[in-house]
Amino acid sequence: MAKKKPMSLTVKVLIGMALGIIVGLGINLLGLNGSGTFINEYIVNGLFLIIGKMFVTALKMLVVPLVIFSLITGVIGIGDIRALGKVGGKSFALYMLTTAIAITVGITLAVSLGIGEGVHMNSAATFTGKEAPALSSVLINIIPSNFINAMAQGNMLQIIFFSILIGISILMVGKKALPVVELIEIGNEIMMKMVTIVMAVAPYAVFALLAKAMANLGLGLLADLAGYVLVLIGALAIHLFVVLMSILKLLSGKSPLMFLKKMRETQIFAFSTSSSNATIPVTLRTVTERLGVDNSVASFTIPFGATINMDGTAIMQGVATVFIANAYGVDLGTAGYLTVILMSVLASIGTAGVPGVGLIMLSMVFTQVGLPVEGIGLILGVDRLLDMTRTAVNVSGDAAVSVIVAKSEKKLDETIYDDPNAGVLTDDDLDISEKVEEELAEVVHQVHEK
Ligand code: ASP
Repeated sequence: MAKKKPMSLTVKVLIGMALGIIVGLGINLLGLNGSGTFINEYIVNGLFLIIGKMFVTALKMLVVPLVIFSLITGVIGIGDIRALGKVGGKSFALYMLTTAIAITVGITLAVSLGIGEGVHMNSAATFTGKEAPALSSVLINIIPSNFINAMAQGNMLQIIFFSILIGISILMVGKKALPVVELIEIGNEIMMKMVTIVMAVAPYAVFALLAKAMANLGLGLLADLAGYVLVLIGALAIHLFVVLMSILKLLSGKSPLMFLKKMRETQIFAFSTSSSNATIPVTLRTVTERLGVDNSVASFTIPFGATINMDGTAIMQGVATVFIANAYGVDLGTAGYLTVILMSVLASIGTAGVPGVGLIMLSMVFTQVGLPVEGIGLILGVDRLLDMTRTAVNVSGDAAVSVIVAKSEKKLDETIYDDPNAGVLTDDDLDISEKVEEELAEVVHQVHEK
Protein backbone atom coordinates (compact mmCIF):
# COMPACT_ATOMS: atom_id res chain seq x y z
CA MET A 1 0.00 0.00 0.00
CA ALA A 2 1.32 3.45 -0.87
CA LYS A 3 2.50 5.48 2.10
CA LYS A 4 0.09 8.28 2.92
CA LYS A 5 1.52 11.64 1.87
CA PRO A 6 2.36 13.60 5.04
CA MET A 7 0.33 16.77 5.50
CA SER A 8 2.37 19.86 4.60
CA LEU A 9 3.03 22.53 7.18
CA THR A 10 1.13 25.09 5.12
CA VAL A 11 -2.05 23.05 5.35
CA LYS A 12 -1.61 22.59 9.09
CA VAL A 13 -0.96 26.31 9.58
CA LEU A 14 -4.06 27.13 7.55
CA ILE A 15 -6.12 24.82 9.75
CA GLY A 16 -4.59 26.42 12.87
CA MET A 17 -5.47 29.84 11.54
CA ALA A 18 -9.06 28.96 10.69
CA LEU A 19 -9.68 27.24 14.04
CA GLY A 20 -8.02 30.13 15.91
CA ILE A 21 -10.26 32.69 14.23
CA ILE A 22 -13.40 30.60 14.83
CA VAL A 23 -12.63 29.89 18.50
CA GLY A 24 -11.53 33.49 19.18
CA LEU A 25 -14.54 35.06 17.51
CA GLY A 26 -16.78 32.52 19.25
CA ILE A 27 -15.41 33.57 22.64
CA ASN A 28 -15.85 37.21 21.71
CA LEU A 29 -19.36 36.95 20.30
CA LEU A 30 -20.63 34.78 23.16
CA GLY A 31 -19.22 37.32 25.60
CA LEU A 32 -17.17 34.63 27.38
CA ASN A 33 -14.14 36.88 27.69
CA GLY A 34 -15.31 39.18 30.49
CA SER A 35 -12.58 40.15 32.93
CA GLY A 36 -12.23 37.75 35.83
CA THR A 37 -13.93 34.85 34.04
CA PHE A 38 -12.23 31.49 33.80
CA ILE A 39 -11.91 31.75 30.03
CA ASN A 40 -10.36 35.19 30.24
CA GLU A 41 -7.94 34.41 33.05
CA TYR A 42 -6.84 30.90 32.20
CA ILE A 43 -7.54 30.37 28.53
CA VAL A 44 -7.25 33.64 26.58
CA ASN A 45 -4.79 35.42 28.86
CA GLY A 46 -3.37 32.16 30.17
CA LEU A 47 -2.88 29.28 27.78
CA PHE A 48 -3.25 31.20 24.48
CA LEU A 49 -1.06 34.03 25.68
CA ILE A 50 1.70 31.73 26.91
CA ILE A 51 1.82 29.59 23.76
CA GLY A 52 1.69 32.64 21.49
CA LYS A 53 4.33 34.61 23.35
CA MET A 54 6.69 31.62 23.59
CA PHE A 55 6.44 31.11 19.85
CA VAL A 56 7.02 34.74 18.90
CA THR A 57 9.96 34.90 21.30
CA ALA A 58 11.41 31.75 19.75
CA LEU A 59 11.18 33.36 16.30
CA LYS A 60 12.83 36.53 17.58
CA MET A 61 15.55 34.43 19.16
CA LEU A 62 16.48 33.14 15.70
CA VAL A 63 16.54 36.48 13.89
CA VAL A 64 19.91 37.93 14.93
CA PRO A 65 22.13 34.84 14.57
CA LEU A 66 20.32 33.78 11.39
CA VAL A 67 20.77 37.17 9.73
CA ILE A 68 24.44 37.34 10.72
CA PHE A 69 25.30 33.84 9.50
CA SER A 70 23.26 34.01 6.31
CA LEU A 71 24.40 37.51 5.38
CA ILE A 72 28.09 36.76 5.84
CA THR A 73 27.57 33.55 3.82
CA GLY A 74 25.72 35.62 1.24
CA VAL A 75 28.46 38.20 0.85
CA ILE A 76 31.06 35.47 0.49
CA GLY A 77 28.74 33.77 -2.02
CA ILE A 78 28.48 36.88 -4.21
CA GLY A 79 32.24 37.22 -3.99
CA ASP A 80 32.26 40.51 -5.84
CA ILE A 81 31.83 43.76 -3.99
CA ARG A 82 30.43 45.55 -7.04
CA ALA A 83 27.70 42.92 -7.44
CA LEU A 84 26.85 43.45 -3.79
CA GLY A 85 26.52 47.17 -4.38
CA LYS A 86 24.16 46.50 -7.27
CA VAL A 87 21.92 44.26 -5.14
CA GLY A 88 21.91 46.95 -2.44
CA GLY A 89 21.15 49.79 -4.83
CA LYS A 90 18.41 47.96 -6.72
CA SER A 91 16.63 46.73 -3.62
CA PHE A 92 16.82 50.14 -1.94
CA ALA A 93 15.35 51.84 -5.01
CA LEU A 94 12.57 49.25 -5.36
CA TYR A 95 11.73 49.39 -1.66
CA MET A 96 11.40 53.16 -1.73
CA LEU A 97 9.44 53.07 -4.98
CA THR A 98 6.94 50.45 -3.82
CA THR A 99 6.45 52.26 -0.50
CA ALA A 100 5.76 55.53 -2.33
CA ILE A 101 3.31 53.77 -4.69
CA ALA A 102 1.63 52.07 -1.73
CA ILE A 103 0.94 55.28 0.14
CA THR A 104 -0.29 56.90 -3.07
CA VAL A 105 -2.76 54.02 -3.55
CA GLY A 106 -3.95 54.54 0.02
CA ILE A 107 -4.38 58.30 -0.33
CA THR A 108 -6.05 58.09 -3.74
CA LEU A 109 -8.61 55.51 -2.64
CA ALA A 110 -9.36 57.33 0.61
CA VAL A 111 -9.68 60.75 -1.04
CA SER A 112 -11.90 59.49 -3.83
CA LEU A 113 -14.22 57.81 -1.33
CA GLY A 114 -14.11 60.82 0.97
CA ILE A 115 -13.63 58.79 4.14
CA GLY A 116 -13.77 60.55 7.47
CA GLU A 117 -16.09 63.28 6.23
CA GLY A 118 -18.82 63.83 8.75
CA VAL A 119 -17.18 61.62 11.36
CA HIS A 120 -18.31 62.54 14.81
CA MET A 121 -15.18 63.82 16.53
CA ASN A 122 -14.41 61.91 19.66
CA SER A 123 -13.11 64.53 22.06
CA ALA A 124 -11.64 61.81 24.26
CA ALA A 125 -9.17 60.85 21.52
CA THR A 126 -5.68 60.77 22.93
CA PHE A 127 -2.39 59.70 21.48
CA THR A 128 1.05 60.99 22.21
CA GLY A 129 3.37 60.83 19.28
CA LYS A 130 7.06 60.95 18.64
CA GLU A 131 9.28 63.32 16.73
CA ALA A 132 10.78 62.02 13.50
CA PRO A 133 14.47 61.21 13.92
CA ALA A 134 16.63 63.44 11.72
CA LEU A 135 17.86 61.74 8.56
CA SER A 136 21.40 62.53 9.67
CA SER A 137 21.01 60.49 12.85
CA VAL A 138 19.46 57.59 10.91
CA LEU A 139 22.55 57.57 8.68
CA ILE A 140 25.02 57.89 11.55
CA ASN A 141 23.25 55.11 13.44
CA ILE A 142 23.82 52.59 10.65
CA ILE A 143 27.32 52.17 12.07
CA PRO A 144 27.37 50.33 15.39
CA SER A 145 29.78 51.68 17.97
CA ASN A 146 29.54 48.33 19.68
CA PHE A 147 28.47 45.25 17.76
CA ILE A 148 27.52 43.28 20.86
CA ASN A 149 25.15 46.08 21.69
CA ALA A 150 23.72 46.06 18.17
CA MET A 151 23.06 42.31 18.48
CA ALA A 152 21.57 42.68 21.95
CA GLN A 153 19.18 45.35 20.73
CA GLY A 154 18.48 43.55 17.47
CA ASN A 155 19.33 46.72 15.55
CA MET A 156 18.89 45.36 12.04
CA LEU A 157 20.60 48.09 10.01
CA GLN A 158 23.67 47.93 12.27
CA ILE A 159 23.72 44.14 12.12
CA ILE A 160 23.47 44.25 8.32
CA PHE A 161 26.29 46.80 8.11
CA PHE A 162 28.66 44.87 10.34
CA SER A 163 27.92 41.48 8.74
CA ILE A 164 28.58 42.85 5.26
CA LEU A 165 31.84 44.31 6.52
CA ILE A 166 32.89 40.96 7.98
CA GLY A 167 31.99 39.22 4.71
CA ILE A 168 34.01 41.68 2.64
CA SER A 169 36.98 41.41 5.01
CA ILE A 170 36.87 37.61 4.79
CA LEU A 171 37.01 37.90 1.00
CA MET A 172 40.00 40.21 1.31
CA VAL A 173 41.84 37.86 3.65
CA GLY A 174 41.26 35.10 1.09
CA LYS A 175 42.40 31.50 1.40
CA LYS A 176 43.59 31.80 4.98
CA ALA A 177 40.04 32.58 6.05
CA LEU A 178 38.67 29.28 4.68
CA PRO A 179 38.13 27.67 8.12
CA VAL A 180 36.04 30.68 9.14
CA VAL A 181 34.06 30.48 5.90
CA GLU A 182 33.32 26.84 6.58
CA LEU A 183 32.31 27.59 10.16
CA ILE A 184 29.94 30.34 9.10
CA GLU A 185 28.41 28.27 6.30
CA ILE A 186 27.75 25.39 8.68
CA GLY A 187 26.44 27.89 11.22
CA ASN A 188 23.99 29.11 8.60
CA GLU A 189 22.83 25.58 7.87
CA ILE A 190 22.32 24.92 11.58
CA MET A 191 20.33 28.13 12.01
CA MET A 192 18.10 27.16 9.08
CA LYS A 193 17.42 23.82 10.81
CA MET A 194 16.45 25.73 13.93
CA VAL A 195 13.96 27.68 11.82
CA THR A 196 12.47 24.35 10.70
CA ILE A 197 12.13 23.19 14.30
CA VAL A 198 10.42 26.38 15.45
CA MET A 199 8.16 26.38 12.38
CA ALA A 200 7.01 22.87 13.20
CA VAL A 201 5.03 24.12 16.20
CA ALA A 202 3.52 26.97 14.17
CA PRO A 203 0.06 25.42 13.64
CA TYR A 204 -0.58 25.39 17.41
CA ALA A 205 1.04 28.77 17.95
CA VAL A 206 -0.87 30.39 15.10
CA PHE A 207 -4.06 28.96 16.59
CA ALA A 208 -3.25 30.45 20.02
CA LEU A 209 -2.16 33.85 18.66
CA LEU A 210 -5.24 34.25 16.50
CA ALA A 211 -7.70 32.92 19.08
CA LYS A 212 -6.36 35.45 21.58
CA ALA A 213 -6.37 38.34 19.12
CA MET A 214 -9.91 37.60 17.93
CA ALA A 215 -11.26 37.04 21.46
CA ASN A 216 -10.00 40.50 22.43
CA LEU A 217 -11.20 42.20 19.28
CA GLY A 218 -13.56 45.10 19.81
CA LEU A 219 -16.16 44.16 17.23
CA GLY A 220 -18.30 47.15 18.17
CA LEU A 221 -15.38 49.46 17.50
CA LEU A 222 -14.87 47.84 14.12
CA ALA A 223 -18.45 48.66 13.20
CA ASP A 224 -18.02 52.30 14.28
CA LEU A 225 -15.02 52.73 12.06
CA ALA A 226 -16.24 50.43 9.27
CA GLY A 227 -15.52 53.03 6.57
CA TYR A 228 -11.90 53.39 7.59
CA VAL A 229 -11.37 49.66 8.08
CA LEU A 230 -12.96 48.66 4.77
CA VAL A 231 -11.16 51.29 2.68
CA LEU A 232 -7.86 50.33 4.29
CA ILE A 233 -8.36 46.61 3.72
CA GLY A 234 -9.47 47.35 0.15
CA ALA A 235 -6.34 49.42 -0.50
CA LEU A 236 -4.14 46.69 1.00
CA ALA A 237 -5.76 44.10 -1.27
CA ILE A 238 -5.38 46.29 -4.38
CA HIS A 239 -1.74 46.89 -3.58
CA LEU A 240 -0.90 43.25 -2.90
CA PHE A 241 -2.90 41.57 -5.66
CA VAL A 242 -2.79 44.19 -8.40
CA VAL A 243 0.10 46.62 -7.92
CA LEU A 244 2.77 44.37 -6.42
CA MET A 245 1.88 41.40 -8.60
CA SER A 246 1.98 43.54 -11.77
CA ILE A 247 5.40 44.88 -10.75
CA LEU A 248 6.56 41.31 -10.09
CA LYS A 249 5.30 40.08 -13.46
CA LEU A 250 6.61 43.10 -15.34
CA LEU A 251 10.09 43.18 -13.84
CA SER A 252 10.77 39.46 -13.34
CA GLY A 253 8.37 37.74 -15.72
CA LYS A 254 7.56 35.23 -12.98
CA SER A 255 4.08 33.92 -12.17
CA PRO A 256 2.23 36.01 -9.54
CA LEU A 257 -0.04 33.05 -8.77
CA MET A 258 2.89 30.84 -7.85
CA PHE A 259 4.30 33.66 -5.74
CA LEU A 260 1.06 34.14 -3.84
CA LYS A 261 0.61 30.42 -3.32
CA LYS A 262 4.08 30.00 -1.86
CA MET A 263 3.86 33.15 0.26
CA ARG A 264 0.64 32.11 1.99
CA GLU A 265 2.36 30.50 4.95
CA THR A 266 4.69 33.48 5.48
CA GLN A 267 1.74 35.84 5.28
CA ILE A 268 -0.03 33.87 7.99
CA PHE A 269 3.07 34.08 10.19
CA ALA A 270 3.19 37.85 9.64
CA PHE A 271 -0.56 38.13 10.24
CA SER A 272 -0.42 36.24 13.53
CA THR A 273 2.76 37.87 14.89
CA SER A 274 2.16 41.43 13.58
CA SER A 275 5.88 41.76 13.11
CA SER A 276 7.92 41.66 9.91
CA ASN A 277 11.02 41.39 12.05
CA ALA A 278 9.92 38.29 13.92
CA THR A 279 8.85 36.81 10.56
CA ILE A 280 12.35 37.24 9.02
CA PRO A 281 13.34 33.57 9.60
CA VAL A 282 10.20 32.34 7.82
CA THR A 283 10.38 34.88 4.99
CA LEU A 284 14.03 34.02 4.44
CA ARG A 285 13.25 30.32 4.30
CA THR A 286 10.33 30.76 1.91
CA VAL A 287 12.21 33.07 -0.42
CA THR A 288 15.29 30.86 -0.66
CA GLU A 289 13.86 27.35 -0.48
CA ARG A 290 10.44 27.82 -2.07
CA LEU A 291 10.91 30.74 -4.46
CA GLY A 292 14.47 29.93 -5.49
CA VAL A 293 16.16 33.22 -4.60
CA ASP A 294 19.86 32.64 -3.99
CA ASN A 295 20.96 33.18 -0.40
CA SER A 296 23.46 35.80 -1.57
CA VAL A 297 20.54 38.06 -2.51
CA ALA A 298 17.89 36.99 0.02
CA SER A 299 20.15 37.23 3.06
CA PHE A 300 20.44 40.95 2.36
CA THR A 301 17.08 41.89 0.85
CA ILE A 302 14.90 40.19 3.48
CA PRO A 303 16.29 41.69 6.73
CA PHE A 304 16.81 44.99 4.91
CA GLY A 305 13.23 44.95 3.63
CA ALA A 306 11.80 43.99 7.02
CA THR A 307 13.39 47.16 8.35
CA ILE A 308 12.95 49.77 5.65
CA ASN A 309 10.14 48.48 3.43
CA MET A 310 6.60 48.59 4.73
CA ASP A 311 4.09 48.85 1.95
CA GLY A 312 1.12 47.88 4.10
CA THR A 313 2.10 50.36 6.78
CA ALA A 314 2.48 53.10 4.17
CA ILE A 315 -1.03 52.36 2.89
CA MET A 316 -2.40 52.63 6.41
CA GLN A 317 -0.63 55.96 6.79
CA GLY A 318 -2.16 57.26 3.57
CA VAL A 319 -5.68 56.17 4.46
CA ALA A 320 -5.38 57.33 8.08
CA THR A 321 -4.07 60.74 7.05
CA VAL A 322 -7.05 61.35 4.79
CA PHE A 323 -9.46 59.98 7.40
CA ILE A 324 -8.16 62.14 10.22
CA ALA A 325 -7.68 65.25 8.08
CA ASN A 326 -11.30 64.96 6.96
CA ALA A 327 -12.54 64.23 10.47
CA TYR A 328 -10.86 67.42 11.70
CA GLY A 329 -11.92 69.34 8.61
CA VAL A 330 -8.32 70.09 7.60
CA ASP A 331 -7.62 70.48 3.89
CA LEU A 332 -4.09 69.24 3.25
CA GLY A 333 -4.11 70.02 -0.47
CA THR A 334 -1.86 68.37 -3.05
CA ALA A 335 1.32 69.83 -1.58
CA GLY A 336 0.34 68.54 1.86
CA TYR A 337 -0.24 65.04 0.53
CA LEU A 338 3.06 65.08 -1.34
CA THR A 339 4.78 65.96 1.95
CA VAL A 340 2.94 63.07 3.59
CA ILE A 341 4.21 60.68 0.92
CA LEU A 342 7.80 61.88 1.28
CA MET A 343 7.67 61.86 5.07
CA SER A 344 6.19 58.36 5.24
CA VAL A 345 8.86 56.97 2.97
CA LEU A 346 11.57 58.60 5.06
CA ALA A 347 9.97 57.56 8.35
CA SER A 348 9.94 53.93 7.23
CA ILE A 349 13.73 53.87 6.99
CA GLY A 350 15.23 53.02 10.32
CA THR A 351 11.93 51.99 11.94
CA ALA A 352 11.91 48.27 12.65
CA GLY A 353 8.99 46.03 11.68
CA VAL A 354 7.51 45.40 15.11
CA PRO A 355 3.87 45.45 16.24
CA GLY A 356 2.21 48.83 16.26
CA VAL A 357 5.19 50.81 15.00
CA GLY A 358 3.11 52.08 12.08
CA LEU A 359 1.12 54.37 14.36
CA ILE A 360 4.28 55.83 15.83
CA MET A 361 5.55 56.53 12.33
CA LEU A 362 2.19 58.12 11.54
CA SER A 363 2.61 60.49 14.45
CA MET A 364 5.97 61.57 13.04
CA VAL A 365 4.30 62.32 9.72
CA PHE A 366 1.45 64.24 11.38
CA THR A 367 3.87 66.42 13.33
CA GLN A 368 5.56 67.36 10.06
CA VAL A 369 2.37 68.31 8.22
CA GLY A 370 0.69 69.90 11.21
CA LEU A 371 -2.19 67.45 11.66
CA PRO A 372 -3.30 66.91 15.28
CA VAL A 373 -1.38 63.90 16.59
CA GLU A 374 -4.07 63.09 19.16
CA GLY A 375 -6.33 62.35 16.18
CA ILE A 376 -4.56 59.00 15.96
CA GLY A 377 -6.45 58.11 19.13
CA LEU A 378 -9.53 57.81 16.89
CA ILE A 379 -8.17 54.78 15.07
CA LEU A 380 -6.16 53.28 17.92
CA GLY A 381 -8.90 50.87 18.96
CA VAL A 382 -9.07 49.07 15.63
CA ASP A 383 -5.37 49.06 14.93
CA ARG A 384 -4.67 45.57 16.25
CA LEU A 385 -6.43 43.76 13.42
CA LEU A 386 -5.20 46.21 10.81
CA ASP A 387 -1.64 45.87 12.06
CA MET A 388 -1.87 42.13 11.47
CA THR A 389 -3.24 42.63 7.98
CA ARG A 390 -0.72 45.24 6.89
CA THR A 391 2.20 43.19 8.23
CA ALA A 392 1.20 40.39 5.84
CA VAL A 393 1.40 42.92 2.98
CA ASN A 394 4.72 44.24 4.29
CA VAL A 395 6.45 40.84 4.11
CA SER A 396 4.94 40.16 0.67
CA GLY A 397 6.56 43.37 -0.60
CA ASP A 398 9.93 42.29 0.78
CA ALA A 399 9.69 38.90 -0.90
CA ALA A 400 8.51 40.32 -4.25
CA VAL A 401 11.43 42.75 -4.42
CA SER A 402 13.76 39.91 -3.47
CA VAL A 403 12.55 37.83 -6.43
CA ILE A 404 12.84 40.79 -8.83
CA VAL A 405 16.38 41.67 -7.73
CA ALA A 406 17.46 38.02 -7.82
CA LYS A 407 16.06 37.58 -11.33
CA SER A 408 17.85 40.67 -12.61
CA GLU A 409 21.12 39.51 -11.06
CA LYS A 410 20.71 35.96 -12.45
CA LYS A 411 20.44 34.66 -8.91
CA LEU A 412 16.99 33.14 -9.23
CA ASP A 413 16.68 29.37 -9.54
CA GLU A 414 13.63 29.22 -11.78
CA THR A 415 13.17 25.47 -11.50
CA ILE A 416 12.62 25.96 -7.76
CA TYR A 417 10.29 28.93 -8.35
CA ASP A 418 8.20 27.02 -10.87
CA ASP A 419 8.00 23.81 -8.83
CA PRO A 420 4.89 23.99 -6.62
CA ASN A 421 6.35 21.43 -4.22
CA ALA A 422 9.82 22.91 -3.78
CA GLY A 423 10.74 23.42 -0.14
CA VAL A 424 7.40 22.25 1.26
CA LEU A 425 7.89 21.38 4.92
CA THR A 426 6.53 18.11 6.23
CA ASP A 427 7.12 16.11 9.40
CA ASP A 428 9.82 14.19 7.53
CA ASP A 429 11.99 17.31 7.68
CA LEU A 430 12.23 16.91 11.43
CA ASP A 431 13.58 13.39 11.29
CA ILE A 432 17.19 12.76 12.18
CA SER A 433 18.23 10.23 9.59
CA GLU A 434 19.67 6.87 10.65
CA LYS A 435 22.72 7.57 8.53
CA VAL A 436 23.48 10.75 10.46
CA GLU A 437 23.01 8.90 13.74
CA GLU A 438 25.46 6.24 12.63
CA GLU A 439 28.00 8.83 11.48
CA LEU A 440 27.77 10.67 14.78
CA ALA A 441 28.12 7.44 16.75
CA GLU A 442 31.23 6.67 14.72
CA VAL A 443 32.78 10.08 15.53
CA VAL A 444 32.02 9.69 19.24
CA HIS A 445 33.54 6.21 19.13
CA GLN A 446 36.74 7.53 17.53
CA VAL A 447 37.06 10.27 20.15
CA HIS A 448 36.74 7.66 22.90
CA GLU A 449 39.38 5.42 21.29
CA LYS A 450 41.82 8.29 21.43
N1 ASP B 1 3.69 45.64 12.44
C1 ASP B 1 4.23 46.13 11.21
C2 ASP B 1 5.40 45.30 10.77
O1 ASP B 1 6.04 44.66 11.56
C3 ASP B 1 4.62 47.55 11.28
C4 ASP B 1 3.41 48.40 11.52
O2 ASP B 1 2.75 48.77 10.55
O3 ASP B 1 3.07 48.66 12.66
O4 ASP B 1 5.72 45.23 9.63
